[in-house]
Amino acid sequence: MSPENIKELNKKPLLVGGPVIYLMSKDIRVKNNPSLMYAQRLALENKLELKVYFNLYADLSVRSYQHFAFMIKGIEEVSVKLAKLNIPLVVSTSSEKDFLTELRKNKPCILILDHSSLKHARKKQQRVAERLDCKVVTCDGRNIIPVWYLSDKEEHSARTIRPKINKLLPLFIYKNKIPAFHSYNKQGDKNLINCNKLLAKVKAKHLSDYKPQIIPGEDAALDVLGRFVNLKLDNYQETRSDPTKESTSLLSAYLHFGMISPLTIYSAVKDMDNNAAFIEELVVRRELADNYCYNNHNYDNLKGAKDWAQKTLIKHLSDRREFVYELQEFESASTHDKAWNAAQTQMLRTGFMHGYMRMYWCKKILEWSSSAETAIQTAIYLNDKYQLDGLDSNGYTGIMWSIAGIHDRPWFEREVYGSIRYMNFNGLKRKFNIDSYISKWLPKQS
Ligand SMILES: Cc1cc2nc3c(=O)[nH]c(=O)nc-3n(C[C@H](O)[C@H](O)[C@H](O)COP(=O)(O)OP(=O)(O)OC[C@H]3O[C@@H](n4cnc5c(N)ncnc54)[C@H](O)[C@@H]3O)c2cc1C
Repeated sequence: MSPENIKELNKKPLLVGGPVIYLMSKDIRVKNNPSLMYAQRLALENKLELKVYFNLYADLSVRSYQHFAFMIKGIEEVSVKLAKLNIPLVVSTSSEKDFLTELRKNKPCILILDHSSLKHARKKQQRVAERLDCKVVTCDGRNIIPVWYLSDKEEHSARTIRPKINKLLPLFIYKNKIPAFHSYNKQGDKNLINCNKLLAKVKAKHLSDYKPQIIPGEDAALDVLGRFVNLKLDNYQETRSDPTKESTSLLSAYLHFGMISPLTIYSAVKDMDNNAAFIEELVVRRELADNYCYNNHNYDNLKGAKDWAQKTLIKHLSDRREFVYELQEFESASTHDKAWNAAQTQMLRTGFMHGYMRMYWCKKILEWSSSAETAIQTAIYLNDKYQLDGLDSNGYTGIMWSIAGIHDRPWFEREVYGSIRYMNFNGLKRKFNIDSYISKWLPKQS
């Protein structure tokens, strides 16, 4: 791990004597976790104890009970792995204020946080940095190249960020790393997680008929990666846009919860044949998405669009729409369009929608909403509520690409969309067997 992965959130000193504390949040893993590696390095250099905390905000309203269950299983697995390394993981469910009091009691030498580009997380981290007496830093384990190092501005598109990535990537590739046994901790201080007790504290809503098919945890993520590399990578470029084939990696939820590092994935594919299209998504598109959210605080509303896109959408605001749906009609997959309803149903049942259908799904929300701003808010609400990989820079950027032309260029002008790129049902028909997709997700209607 390089020093560029670390960003100071305050100018306070290291208070040598107390433990090094790593507050895990976005990177629920042991392997290739820069925050954890940095925490242990500092603790070893200063002969200090090392503690890992996780503060579960069990009432985060946009997410469902099932999302918490996925996350808690991952935390449990990490706690078992850390216990073997003599590193305790303490899970707290306190309010932000009480949790700060809990942290202060430890008199930490330093607090290390996981990087997030999203507004709510950054504000919370800034508050912690202001209120603690010790140094507080954040480490970027979300990206291979730290977002603040890759570029100091909002990039225009994949075309402008790609050369920067190609230049810097070799500097951030290192051999897989896991922490060592931490002998400065007292033996036996293990704190294994009781999953059921934690789940009992989760207040988020249990969604009926919603059964994510992805097995939680770091080990499961590594298995999914192994299967992808052995069985699917070779044909990824040709088959990835066909939602009737399960040909993509299905790693997005693991990446979202930090159960696998993008570096681990990159290392597994970098010497394989036919890897270019996959690396473009995993590294270029994914790091471009985080660059957008990190540098543009309006990533979740129309003000985050470029001038040309705002102007064209406002110009077409009063265009007649053939269909206008309310949120509840979208949510219950009750539009006139079977392909759209099938995509929405895939997400409602499994917590995952195929990437190609996500674009169609979102563009139609623009077409059938009273305004682009309403469309953005509808898409964000549904995406964050149902996608297991939701509440992520990739989601906000994907929505802003679809509705507000982010990282795209103006296309031919048409009703409602203005110059925003258009997609239609015939395009789906040309690309793959859309009837087969519809009959899989809407068997009674096809
Ligand atoms: C409207 C819309 C909403 C989206 N919402 C989300 C979301 O909430 N969370 C999310 O992780 N992705 C989102 N995406 C991006 C993309 O569709 C998913 O990451 C991908 O479909 C996940 O499937 P996979 O893991 O099998 O992807 P693969 O095709 O196997 O790609 C590998 C990894 O690369 C990254 N990736 C792939 N495509 C993109 C992309 N276009 N932009 C950024 N990163 C990408 C993902 O981390 C993915 O897991 C959205 C895209 C759109 C158009």
